[in-house]
Amino acid sequence: MRILIVGAGIAGLAFARALELRGIVPDIVERRAIWGAKGTGLFLPGNASRAFSQLGLLPDITKVAVPIRHQRVLSHRGEELHNINTERFWAACGPCLALSRADMHSLLRRGLERTSIEMSNSVRHIRQEPDGCEVTFGNGETKRYELVVGADGIRSRVRQIAFPSASPAYTGNVCWRFVAENVVGVDSWTAMIGRRQTLLAIPISPSKVYVYADHAVNLSTAWKYSGSINLERLFSKFSGPLFPLVKKLPPQADLHFSHIESVSIGDWRKKRVVLIGDAAHASSPSMAEGAGLACEDALLLAKVICENANVDEALDIFVRQRERRVSWVHKQCAARDRMRTLPTFISGPLLKYFGASLYERSYRPLLAQI
Ligand SMILES: Cc1cc2nc3c(=O)[nH]c(=O)nc-3n(C[C@H](O)[C@H](O)[C@H](O)COP(=O)(O)OP(=O)(O)OC[C@H]3O[C@@H](n4cnc5c(N)ncnc54)[C@H](O)[C@@H]3O)c2cc1C
Repeated sequence: MRILIVGAGIAGLAFARALELRGIVPDIVERRAIWGAKGTGLFLPGNASRAFSQLGLLPDITKVAVPIRHQRVLSHRGEELHNINTERFWAACGPCLALSRADMHSLLRRGLERTSIEMSNSVRHIRQEPDGCEVTFGNGETKRYELVVGADGIRSRVRQIAFPSASPAYTGNVCWRFVAENVVGVDSWTAMIGRRQTLLAIPISPSKVYVYADHAVNLSTAWKYSGSINLERLFSKFSGPLFPLVKKLPPQADLHFSHIESVSIGDWRKKRVVLIGDAAHASSPSMAEGAGLACEDALLLAKVICENANVDEALDIFVRQRERRVSWVHKQCAARDRMRTLPTFISGPLLKYFGASLYERSYRPLLAQI
């Protein structure tokens, strides 16, 4: 079967790996000219590590990742609100892990033995035919495929072509991310919650910590925020243990700023074009489910197309089986994002007395196998 994957991010590489494990070698095109993930850190809840285990990559990931045995939530003043034993909660799936994005991408890429990735190329046009697609690439070449998989992220070109009316929507948060020396000695996932603001730090190596800071702002004022804002001033109401990380941010820090967006289109399939990962269902990062959902998509899509002689039926099964889980994650993310906008005298007690049960409630459905 001739399959084109557009995008060599987590979803595209994981899908190529899942296909290779089943004896299919796809083509991949990647828009970027140079290999290597930009970026910061990645937290993987247990369902993500289960998916990586099914891709045969977990042993290599655990060699470079930091195991996260607890998720601690503190008030902006440093009072502990709750502390989840993630090792126990995710025991049936696998460990929660944190690592650098660059390590994640190179492990996924090294996991491909026969698939080659064509860099600096993309799709310009896709012509649907009854049993496949004719694809015109950016370099002018035209090729025929039985299936085109859009794994090209939140600004997906494939989605623009197949679903022109679907576009990302602002979620109400702007965020900053960077990697720093772990001067505060954070040894597990630690978040501090203030009014409309979160500071999160996750160790990703023995000496480095991944820091994520977000701020809930309306769309009408979101344009005022950028990567050059003074984080020390913006998060000045926060105290230890995490405030020193933004206070001591060196001027040369590689700071990543984004307006957080999500994509909700429900049906990710149009004839012989299907979307996976962020192209299909990017969500706010408040559940840290992006990589996990992308890998689950990859595993299920490879399974259904290899186990069903009829590709169209296989794609219908794929969308049907994924829709419920993905929309659950979207709903939970939206609820978590809304909670951030509550005054701290409401969110504090809520997280203190109900935080653990809210965590279990929102993640429990993801313990189930896909
Ligand atoms: C602030 C923030 C924090 C996050 N934290 C976490 C976390 O801790 N844990 C977690 O699991 N998830 C997290 N996520 C989500 C996670 O990063 C994404 O869900 C995940 O990267 C999606 O992978 P993807 O392969 O679908 O898309 P991407 O990673 O965006 O990869 C898409 C690939 O396609 C390529 N591409 C784009 N357009 C084209 C084109 N036209 N032609 C060819 N190639 C193209 C891109 O260059 C890229 O290589 C976070 C997201 C945000 C915004």
